[in-house]
Formats: sequence, C-alpha cells, structure tokens
Amino acid sequence: MKNLETNLNYSAYDIIAKKRDGKTLTDTEIKWFIAGVTNKSIADYQMSALLMAIYIKGFDKAETASLTDAMLFSGSTISFEGVDVIDKHSTGGVGDKASFILAPIAHAAGVKVPMMAGRGLGHTGGTIDKVESIKGFKTSLSLEEFKKAVDKNRMALIGQTGEIAPADKKIYALRDVTATVDSIPLITASIMSKKLAEGANGIVMDIKTGSGAFMKTRQKAKALGKSLRDTATRFDKKMLTMITDMNQPLGEAVGNSLEIIESIEVLKNKGPKDITDISVELAGAMIYLAEITKTHKAGIKKAKEVLKNGKALESFRELIRLQGGDHKVVDDYSRLPLAKNTKEVLATKSGYISSIACQEFGEHVVTLGGGRKKTEDLIDFGVGFIVHKCVGQKVKKGEKLVTIYYNNDQAEIVKNIEEEILTKNIKIKDAKPKVIKPLIYEIDENPLC
Ligand code: URA
Repeated sequence: MKNLETNLNYSAYDIIAKKRDGKTLTDTEIKWFIAGVTNKSIADYQMSALLMAIYIKGFDKAETASLTDAMLFSGSTISFEGVDVIDKHSTGGVGDKASFILAPIAHAAGVKVPMMAGRGLGHTGGTIDKVESIKGFKTSLSLEEFKKAVDKNRMALIGQTGEIAPADKKIYALRDVTATVDSIPLITASIMSKKLAEGANGIVMDIKTGSGAFMKTRQKAKALGKSLRDTATRFDKKMLTMITDMNQPLGEAVGNSLEIIESIEVLKNKGPKDITDISVELAGAMIYLAEITKTHKAGIKKAKEVLKNGKALESFRELIRLQGGDHKVVDDYSRLPLAKNTKEVLATKSGYISSIACQEFGEHVVTLGGGRKKTEDLIDFGVGFIVHKCVGQKVKKGEKLVTIYYNNDQAEIVKNIEEEILTKNIKIKDAKPKVIKPLIYEIDENPLC
C-alpha cells in the first residue's frame, strides 16, 4: 500500500495549497502525503505547513479517518486476545499523573494493561518523560518485547518507538513546536493511531477540558470525544469516554520526579484527594471495560479495594522492576533526581483561592527545563512545583502557596516566576467562590460505541 501511495504523481505543494484554500483532501492525497513524511521524501517544513493548514481550515470526518489510517499503517501493529486487554489515554493536562496510579490499580484488579504513552506536548507533561525520572526504567521496548511483556506480566509501559505509528512520532514532534497541537482531527489521528497499533481491545479516554487542557471548552471536549468514539467504532473497539476538569493542576505536584513521588504517595493512600479520586474512577472504568465487573460503579469499588490493601502499590513496584528501573524509589524518594534549591511562594493576603492558572504552571515547568522548547531538548527531571492550595481553599497571609524546585543558575528565572504566580497565576479573593468546578463533567459509559 505504501508503494502505491508514494508512486502516485501528487505534489506536496498542491496538497498544501488545496487545504490552505479550504478544500477537502482525498483519501489518496492524505495517504500519499503521510507516506512521504514517513519515508522522508516530504520535508518537515512541508508537513509543518500542511499541519497549520489543517489546524486553520479543519478536516472533516472522512479526512480524519484517512489521516488516522495513514498514520496507523505507517508502522507495525500488534493485537492481543481477550476482552480484558484495556488501556487508558488522557488528552493531556498539567500535573496529570493518573496513568502511574490507575495502571497498577487496574492490573492489581485483573486487567491486562498494554500502555503506550507519550512525551510532553506543549505545556502538558508526558507520562514517558515522567517515568524516565526513575533511573534505569526502559520505555523503548520493541513491539515484540512489549507484546511478550504484556502477555507474561499482564502490564507494560512503553513510549512510541520507530515501529509504532512512525508518522505520528514525527508529526507529534512537529506539532509541539509549530503551535498546531490543539486541533481535533490532529489529536484524534495522533491518539488513535497509537492506541490502535498497540492492540488494546478497549480504551478509557480521559478528555481534559479547561484552561490547562488543549480543549478549552466543554463543547470542544465533547466534539473530540465524538471524533475519538467514531474512530473506535470504525475499528470495533470498546471505548468509554470521560470529560474531566483541567482548570487547575491535578494533584499538587507539577514536574517529572515530583509527579512520580506524588503518584507513589497516592498508591500508599496518602496522596491528594483529586488525583486519587480521578485515578480510581478511570481505573474503575478499565475494570468495567475488561468485563471484570458488570458496572462502572462496581469497577470503582474494586479499584478502591486494591488501592486500600496495597496491591496496586505492589503492582507499581513490580512494573518498575520488570522494566529495569530502580524499584527502591518506592520506599526512598531521595533516589529520584530532584533539584537542590527550593523557593516558597507565600500568600500576600488572606482570603480564598479563586483561580489557579493551569496552563501557566505547565509553561513554567518548560521554562525551568522540565519540558521541551525544541524537539531535541533534554528534560530536567528535578525541577517543578508543589502547588499547596486548590481553588476554593482558605488561605492566610504569609501561608505557603507554592514551592518551586530549581537549579543553582535559575535564581533570576525563579524571581520572575514568583512574581507571575503572585500577580497573575493564583488569585485570592475575600469571598469564597460560589461555584467550584467538579472533577468529572460527564461520562459516556456506553462501552460498545
Ligand atoms: N496525546 C496524543 O497522543 N496526541 C495528541 O495529539 C494529544 C494528546
């Protein structure tokens, strides 16, 4: 199929111009273009131009399907037997470390979890970057090794290798640096090409909405949910979608090592309530999709059980050990790389927290080196933030709002960040906010879409 597409006599220039002018691309045009990106006959700057044209002019349902298929079949695919092979994916947020919590919970409850996750994208952190803060943790298994690991251990966590949707790997990196991330067709094709390649038979999709998410409004989040479900239906996969809040960081920790520590705290039943609750909801959905329980509610009950009795924590320890990581971090956080300096940002007045600028905290992590500005940037695992308060909480003047973890040469940057936090990012008002946004807005539980 790839040869046929590369042999067609199209021009990248004409296809870019066609989309720029708002016309609909054909299936073969899209597949030809993506085959060219994969075999490098189409340059990054041409793909970047097409991405911007798609971002601005959009893709209809058929174009989105063609793009997804082109990206999916740009690499190898695997499959697993069994209704109990379930993965979860989040559309990206700030402080979203739920995967480290829900995967071990689901595993401990009997779900087979083939988890393929991404790196940081834009202001959002990536599961793979975060888990790599654990020394030795190998995320680059081949597809064959991944399949063997999932079949043997019933759980594995990998990043996208060159074998899996290589077109997405390339496009994902380009989108990250060309301001073309928050597009429904591009997100759909990116997520679904990977999820379909990795062979899960059911997917729990956590669609984030709010100031720290790519989908800023509920309406957009719903549209993304529909687009993802349409794709799952086409491939006969079970999917449960949840629309969840991302108007403030999830949990308290934002930054790679700090988020691993917080995940372990949740698995020890000592973590913040919001990240615990959402992880349990999502894990419960995985347990339900795996047909271990008859309802989502019963799945949640089971998830709580294995979290309480410590089985989920042991699953996480085992996951780290099986993938070559330093599993002693579970008992000794000093084994994780953490920046040496901390700065406490104190409230300048008393009152109630009325808002926390979510995206900005993600951007501050990138500024400190905990995320990428350019595709080739290396990540600093040790920097980040603990946001001690959440929206609606009472605060006294002089009380700790945020702790910043930073490196020796970053004092000036930290001064600016502190100023931004106090003047723009965290707002304190005299009156308690009338409405506190819920953690979960809606759940579409119909697993067979
Ligand atoms: N996660 C992905 O894998 N791709 C996107 O485009 C957004 C979130």
